[in-house]
Amino acid sequence: MLRCDFCGVETDFVVRVAIDKDYDRLTVRHEKRYACLACSEKKEKERQERMKAAAQKTR
Ligand SMILES: [Zn+2]
Repeated sequence: MLRCDFCGVETDFVVRVAIDKDYDRLTVRHEKRYACLACSEKKEKERQERMKAAAQKTR
């Protein structure tokens, strides 16, 4: 069993999530984390939202 680093659920299925270096100062030392399917989808959505926001800033 592995544990999701985000919600703490124990699961056999985890996804390795690479955290952007500027994502969160608290996670700087842990660039790779394990996420359950729900959390990995959430993180992916957040990543896309941030990319959208960044793209709008440079316009
Ligand atoms: Zn989770």
